[in-house]
Amino acid sequence: MNTKDLKSFFESIRPDFSGQIEFDAPLAKATYYQIGGSADVLVTPKTQEDLQKIHQALHVTGSRFFILGWGSNLLVSDDGFRGVVIRMKHLFQEIEIKEEGLLRLGASVGGSSLLRRAQREGWSGLSALTGIPGSVGGMVTMNAGTHLGEFKDVAVSVDYIDLRSNHFEIERHRVGGNSFSYRKNHFLTEDQLVTHAEVRFGRDDPKKIEAEINHLYTRRKETQPVDFPSCGSVFMNPKSSGLHAWQVIDRLKLRGHRIGNAQFAEKHSNFIINLGGARAVDVKGLIDLAKSRALNELNVELHEEVRYIT
Ligand SMILES: Cc1cc2nc3c(=O)[nH]c(=O)nc-3n(C[C@H](O)[C@H](O)[C@H](O)COP(=O)(O)OP(=O)(O)OC[C@H]3O[C@@H](n4cnc5c(N)ncnc54)[C@H](O)[C@@H]3O)c2cc1C
Repeated sequence: MNTKDLKSFFESIRPDFSGQIEFDAPLAKATYYQIGGSADVLVTPKTQEDLQKIHQALHVTGSRFFILGWGSNLLVSDDGFRGVVIRMKHLFQEIEIKEEGLLRLGASVGGSSLLRRAQREGWSGLSALTGIPGSVGGMVTMNAGTHLGEFKDVAVSVDYIDLRSNHFEIERHRVGGNSFSYRKNHFLTEDQLVTHAEVRFGRDDPKKIEAEINHLYTRRKETQPVDFPSCGSVFMNPKSSGLHAWQVIDRLKLRGHRIGNAQFAEKHSNFIINLGGARAVDVKGLIDLAKSRALNELNVELHEEVRYIT
């Protein structure tokens, strides 16, 4: 289906749609990087019925689509995205105790809301996720984590919907030993939208948890260029080399190096920051430069942690 027909189709479902349907929507506004072109259609479902309508629309139109969380690990192409971007921002916002020791989290819950709640209620075991700015859906997909732990350490199950399936049904993956590895999950395809996740928690003194979380936030501010738009760490640590990605960038003397208005940050060289008006090609130029030089000069393979919307 061409773009005009795709838009007409989404226009036709608008009267029964509770969330937002936008055309030619600038994705720079929907991502932390503040870079990139527009999506033909950007839909932000508010109810499960909205999601069902999106499922039907994708089925009828056969359009390509991309599932967007909070956009904190994404680089959008300067040409934008031809197709439908589904933004998980308002639907599935629950943080509830399912039983003692088990939380049920909606996919759109932000890491910061979860951590604030953990601190208030004295839920322990989640502090390792402090400062990760994305949503629960993004944390599942990316197995987000820090040097203190990863999402997989607390994950029990993940509910998802396959948007390419003929049936609109929620399926459950029970997390096992092979479900995740470093910054990866091994059970979701790009067509599967996470709706909820269940995670374990313990109990501790809220004051102690608050101190732990505050300490981690302070440390982030000291060590990361939080004043500039970025996607966090651009590269995964090349573990087999025994080096952190920032050490590789430093050995290549790329700390501070710029293309256009994109720069390997002085404060943390595994962050490429947007100094203002950077283009995706600038960021990609720095990524490709580091990858090829790391391979040629250090025999180290760098792999992106950032994901692309093209
Ligand atoms: C300043 C800064 C610091 C960061 N620090 C860390 C860190 O310490 N550790 C770390 O691991 N990451 C870090 N990140 C990266 C990022 O926050 C994480 O990868 C986060 O988990 C991404 O979540 P998101 O909702 O923003 O996902 P997005 O960036 O929107 O998407 C990332 C991927 O998840 C998929 N996705 C998102 N939601 C869903 C869903 N509901 N269903 C199916 N797929 C979905 C997308 O399709 C995409 O493939 C940082 C980023 C920034 C900007």
